[in-house]
Amino acid sequence: MAKKLNMRKRYELLTRGLGWEPTYQPKEKVFPQESYEGIKIVDWDKWEDPFRLTAEAYWKYQAEKDKKLYAIIDSFAQNNGHLNLTNASYINALKIFIQGVSPLEYGAHRGFANLARQFSGEGAQIACQMQSIDELRHVQTQIHTLSHYNKHFTGLHDPFHMHDRVWYLSVPKSYFDDARSAGPFEFMTSISFAFEYILTNLLFVPFMSGAAHNGDMATVTFGFSAQSDESRHMTLGLEIIKFIVEQHEDNLEIVQGWIDKHFWRAYRVLGLVSAMQDYMLPDSPMSWKEAWDIYFVDNCGALFKDLGRYGLRMPKFHEQATEESEHLSHQIYTVLYQFSHAAAFQTEVPSKEKMDWLSEKYPNTFDKYYRPRWEMYAQMEKEGKRYFNAGLPQVCQTCQVPMCFTDISKGNPMELSYRVSEFNGDKFHTCSDGCKSIFDHEPEKYAHAWIPPHQIFQGNCGGAEMPDVLKYYHFNEDDSGEYKGSADDNSWKAAHHNSNDDNDIKESA
Ligand code: FE
Ligand code: ZN
Repeated sequence: MAKKLNMRKRYELLTRGLGWEPTYQPKEKVFPQESYEGIKIVDWDKWEDPFRLTAEAYWKYQAEKDKKLYAIIDSFAQNNGHLNLTNASYINALKIFIQGVSPLEYGAHRGFANLARQFSGEGAQIACQMQSIDELRHVQTQIHTLSHYNKHFTGLHDPFHMHDRVWYLSVPKSYFDDARSAGPFEFMTSISFAFEYILTNLLFVPFMSGAAHNGDMATVTFGFSAQSDESRHMTLGLEIIKFIVEQHEDNLEIVQGWIDKHFWRAYRVLGLVSAMQDYMLPDSPMSWKEAWDIYFVDNCGALFKDLGRYGLRMPKFHEQATEESEHLSHQIYTVLYQFSHAAAFQTEVPSKEKMDWLSEKYPNTFDKYYRPRWEMYAQMEKEGKRYFNAGLPQVCQTCQVPMCFTDISKGNPMELSYRVSEFNGDKFHTCSDGCKSIFDHEPEKYAHAWIPPHQIFQGNCGGAEMPDVLKYYHFNEDDSGEYKGSADDNSWKAAHHNSNDDNDIKESA
């Protein structure tokens, strides 16, 4: 060969040159999922891949990143890096991460692999294939990083088993299953655009800068290692939306409907993150409300201004999400506090310093609505009556979050919000206008959702008694309940008591 081709040319050969027109079977039979959603693709060749990367270059970059990551994980383990955290209560955030988020990475891996098969355009096939491999790498690096913590702390031992069964994990699981059981274009709008493009910062900033603020260098490192992949994924998310809308005018309304739906679904999943961010990090980099204002109100506001020229508008019910931002974390953490005897993490009443921080970050709501409740719980605990809710909550048929939200947009922050729909003679309850409108649009899909409290009542979760259910979840005895006096709390205090004596954490361990 006379001349070396540049990257763009090589990428074109990979994506355009390798495709062919099938002749043994009609194209619709080879790609059976491509048309039933109603999306019309006129010319796949108009697909401009956002991250032209040949297979050769891809493997080289990824291998370099992995080498660095594993070197840091090794030294973290050898130096007992976990002893340098702010406090062992921080680990509760990691438990939520590996139980709730890492299995989604695996779901993304499976989902994008399917898309690589279902799209007939070669550019899209290759992009989805690379993202599929990225996601597999993400879940693996997360498991490897957190395996060190699993040697020292509770709740980290069986996250994938838990993800498919445990009540609070059905919130992220059902969102991803919703996307994966939809067609390929809806999956992509959901995961690549609504989740990875619009809301990803709201997930990764609290977890990754949360890790940095709490001395968790291992998690920071896998966060950084995933970040360059993430920026490719975000670009893909934006490009797919523009591509679909530009292909045919009929596509706009369908895509807008998916943006509305998956924005709200993904936002409800992030409710768990808001609680983790505001309450479970001993040292929190910023509040949920601050993050929402920056990453949603400002950044997404600007994004949708740009997308206006394609005819797209802000997702439906975004105003309600913004109105809720001063209440969300408080309402969700209250549920986690009440039900942590049935969770694989521990909770506690926020400390005095934490409450003052919350007052400062939420001047309009915390002292008025939420501080009195925490003070009451603290008093109960003092009297030896630490509050655990003995019932099973009603959960939303769509998002599966326990019904803890209030009617803030109707001016009733103290009144529980719930909506009712009827379908086939049965009543279904949802937590909000957003979830009700999603249910009403596809009732046949959500009517048969796997709702954890219903499943427990029907005897499908190991038995009728709490210990049966916890066994079915694969929880260990020390995983749940109150943080103070928990196994994690005790071992942390023991380790630090010893290490303070000789003033060197690393040598004593
Ligand atoms: Fe990922
Ligand atoms: Zn809901």
